[in-house]
Amino acid sequence: MTFEDFNLNRQLLNAIAEAGYETPSPIQEQAIPLVLQGHDVLGIAQTGTGKTAAYVLPLLMRIKYAQGQTPRALILAPTRELVMQIHEAIGVLGKFTDLRYVALYGGLGPKTQIENIQKGVDIIVATPGRFMDLYLRGEIGVKQLTTLILDEADKMMDMGFMPQINRILEVIPRKRQNLLFSATFPPKVERLSENFLEAPVRVEVTPQATTAERVAQVIFEVPNFRAKINLLEYLVQDAAVFQRGMVFVRSKEAAENIYKFLKRKVVSEDEVRVIHANKGQNTRINAMEAFKEGNVRILIATDVAARGIDVTMVSHVVNFDVPLIYEDYVHRIGRTGRANQEGKAITFVTMSDEYHIAKIEKIIRMTIPRTPMPPNVDVPETPFEEKQEMLRELDNQRRKEDPNFKGAFHEKKHKKFVDSKPKKKQTISPRKNGNKRKK
Ligand code: AMP
Repeated sequence: MTFEDFNLNRQLLNAIAEAGYETPSPIQEQAIPLVLQGHDVLGIAQTGTGKTAAYVLPLLMRIKYAQGQTPRALILAPTRELVMQIHEAIGVLGKFTDLRYVALYGGLGPKTQIENIQKGVDIIVATPGRFMDLYLRGEIGVKQLTTLILDEADKMMDMGFMPQINRILEVIPRKRQNLLFSATFPPKVERLSENFLEAPVRVEVTPQATTAERVAQVIFEVPNFRAKINLLEYLVQDAAVFQRGMVFVRSKEAAENIYKFLKRKVVSEDEVRVIHANKGQNTRINAMEAFKEGNVRILIATDVAARGIDVTMVSHVVNFDVPLIYEDYVHRIGRTGRANQEGKAITFVTMSDEYHIAKIEKIIRMTIPRTPMPPNVDVPETPFEEKQEMLRELDNQRRKEDPNFKGAFHEKKHKKFVDSKPKKKQTISPRKNGNKRKK
């Protein structure tokens, strides 16, 4: 099948050619004709499948050219990064049309965004919160809206956007075409789709939450934080192999620490960046752009900061910490193995992560193979406190499964000890020998 087989106009076909897309991806093959015919569509597709173009192309075809002052299509997405990416995709695919499109997201003042709306707009791409803000200020006319698209609906549910989405549904015209895209299809998305879509046609490119087959996944069993650091250091050293990798970390403090360590000890300063919620909008955008353009080899990120970032040709995804929102595993590894690139997803698993890995393996319906630690990675003893922390975590997990479980780690008995010791902050001290690189 080729793009010529769809009923797309010359402007769009030229833009597709210029973007370098040769053949439609499976989600595009399925979704484009349905959207063109005016159906409501439920699309289950991860990022990296071409799902954005799967709805943007037929949308551009349907609304064709600039018309009136107020928007005819609204695309809602969970994060500003994703909003910016969708906006960019519209720019690429709509290059030869005169359609006007505006991105609305929080984190900065609305002045420019309002000015852009006032110039006249055909498509709005927005985070739900900012859209509602500007609507309530009377800045957005919604009467002409005929298409509503929700992208990454599962993320929107996870991030608590349901009330905003409901309010938006209340104020926009009822007669419209609805599209809903989601990487996974948990019950809450199912409920949303029942409320939101009318007689939808479902298209799916991978079964629910099944991770891209082309991503090679491995687990390293790593006993403690220090060993994780040593393993990461080992993995990132060879720039010919670890060409462009994202390292996912649970907390922003750990992300910052790992960043500083790599910068100081392992790689040169311009090879690594970090993004997390404490970084300003501009810093995050700059880091993302530098990484995207290949100027930065390693990007350390928390899930929240990394949500929706579209980077192709990521050679490695390292789960320094196992994600606690299990669907995030799918999102994380979806960043590698894109657009027919071979990718590798590496997960560090400690004793207390086994519980979470079992749940993740259930979601992805496969067992992730385990690899022994490379022999030349130093594995230090687990510090007493870290071990206690993990044992407590194990107890909590068993309690979650069995509320009657009393705990192997007797919390009461140790209470005094546990409370009297202030929690040590995890910092990374330079290695004793001070060697910059390990041979
Ligand atoms: P998405 O799944 O929408 O995040 O898209 C993933 C990446 O694939 C983006 O960088 C798109 O530009 C690219 N892409 C989308 N459709 C195609 C296609 N048919 N052929 C090649 N690349 C594509």
